[in-house]
Amino acid sequence: MPFQQTPPQLGNQYEDDRVLRSYLARVLPADMLREIEVSLAEMGRLAGGELYELQLADRLNEPRLTQWDAWGNRIDKIELTPLWRVAEGIAVEHGVVATAYEQKHGSLSRVHQCALAYLFTPSTDIYSCPLAMTDGAARTLLGSGNQALIDRAVPHLITRVAGQFWTAGQWMTELTGGSDVGLTETVARQDPESGAYRLYGRKWFTSAISSQMALTLARPERNPPGGRGLALFYVETRDATGRPRNVEVNRLKDKLGTRKVPTAELTLNGTPAQLVKGTTDGIRNIAPLLNITRLWNGISAVALMRRGVALASDYSRKRIAFGVALSEKPLHMDTLAGLEAEAEAAFHLAFYVAELTGRSETGEISNDDAALLRLLTPIMKLTTAKQAVAVASEVLECFGGAGYVEDTGLPMLLRDSQVLPIWEGTTNVLAVDTLRALNEDSLRVFQSAVTKLAGNFPPALDHATSWYTRISDRSVLEAGARRFALTLGRTIELALLLNHARSSGDQQSMVNARRFAALGVDLIIDDYPQQ
Ligand SMILES: Cc1cc2nc3c(=O)[nH]c(=O)nc-3n(C[C@H](O)[C@H](O)[C@H](O)COP(=O)(O)OP(=O)(O)OC[C@H]3O[C@@H](n4cnc5c(N)ncnc54)[C@H](O)[C@@H]3O)c2cc1C
Repeated sequence: MPFQQTPPQLGNQYEDDRVLRSYLARVLPADMLREIEVSLAEMGRLAGGELYELQLADRLNEPRLTQWDAWGNRIDKIELTPLWRVAEGIAVEHGVVATAYEQKHGSLSRVHQCALAYLFTPSTDIYSCPLAMTDGAARTLLGSGNQALIDRAVPHLITRVAGQFWTAGQWMTELTGGSDVGLTETVARQDPESGAYRLYGRKWFTSAISSQMALTLARPERNPPGGRGLALFYVETRDATGRPRNVEVNRLKDKLGTRKVPTAELTLNGTPAQLVKGTTDGIRNIAPLLNITRLWNGISAVALMRRGVALASDYSRKRIAFGVALSEKPLHMDTLAGLEAEAEAAFHLAFYVAELTGRSETGEISNDDAALLRLLTPIMKLTTAKQAVAVASEVLECFGGAGYVEDTGLPMLLRDSQVLPIWEGTTNVLAVDTLRALNEDSLRVFQSAVTKLAGNFPPALDHATSWYTRISDRSVLEAGARRFALTLGRTIELALLLNHARSSGDQQSMVNARRFAALGVDLIIDDYPQQ
């Protein structure tokens, strides 16, 4: 009989996940873990079973835009793929957004929700994107003090009732810039009589355009240029009959990855909109949304890494080369061990930020931890995103040629990971933001957190601190900001990994910590030649 290769398989993605389980056993009270484990095991079963099968079967389906109906009416109808329709139902039923707001377990509800999102994400082709923005919109509206909008939208965003669920978009990027949103050209015109606003402009990247509402930035007429002159607006995208409310979908983007996410270019042509919080400071007011979507970005990064490692590990036991399974080849196993170490280190950082986020939401956070959260959010997002791309690339190589072939479903891991360092702030933009968040206080808090977790003051932190305090030239500081932020990110990842290994007694975590340290934490270059 000719040779037939067995494809990689997945088991229950909760039960098989040593890192997630040993982390939850450490941070959650035993009775809470017992209570939520049912929901996690069910999500793990779906993610490794039906959803994974559907994902593979649905691979070639993509969202479709129909701009006109047969009678010449502009309808801009978006048809989602079967996988996404199923994903929405599961997300709503299992409370992948709602869990964070129901607060059944206080601040740890955020950890529960992130664990659900982590299990759900790799089998649902970035349906995490609309969920992240929905979560961010709920957080932003709740913090805005705008009771009318809270009453109108939040119940839809956090519901567990199918048919009542809304997703939210986040329309910030324009042709003038996604990083430099202060250049936003969209204008908000106010009707002198009713006081109502309408928006006019173009939005260049708007993901999940199938959403029922969006938060967006526009400049009320006569406001000054720059970021301060922008206001945050709430938009409902369609009227009661389903027709677009003066929002034209010009086209869907033809993208490298995230192919199931309908990302559109829009023209706002008198779109009715409501102010969320004042007529200025839109960028500041949308920050809560970005903090949540950056957390989701990190959770997605570790989820995709975990999926890649799970598939490659399973395959290593099935693929025979030179007479033995790859799992018997020391070099192949060394390669996999490096991936596992990167993935576990990233996991602990993303979930640490989830813990801090949860505490900030319930008001149980100290000033020091609030400063730490502000600093860690960009650091976590940029560090885990870069790791995800590197890990996904290596995972594909672990499959040899099969990793490069589309109908294995593997290349998607790399393409989808590649968006993680780009959206929600590029690596450089977040590295510059790290400098912004850094001051005497936050540096002290970071140093003491790392020292406590690691049990010593790590040499990489010493090097990064002395570089940062020595450089007075702003352009030199900016030039090194990415290496600096990544060094802080990898330093705290190692500290978290060591802390987890010691407090949980998980021997594999200690092995991973040693390997992660050996892979390199300190990326600072002291005297880099300037241009
Ligand atoms: C699939 C996808 C979906 C998206 N969905 C949305 C969405 O739903 N809503 C939305 O608002 N946006 C969305 N975006 C847009 C995304 O947020 C932007 O593309 C991103 O913020 C970068 O902005 P830009 O494309 O204008 O690049 P630019 O800002 O032009 O950046 C170009 C390069 O310059 C670098 N750079 C910029 N500023 C600095 C600096 N100060 N120092 C050093 N380097 C710098 C960047 O790191 C980057 O490498 C999406 C993008 C993609 C790819």
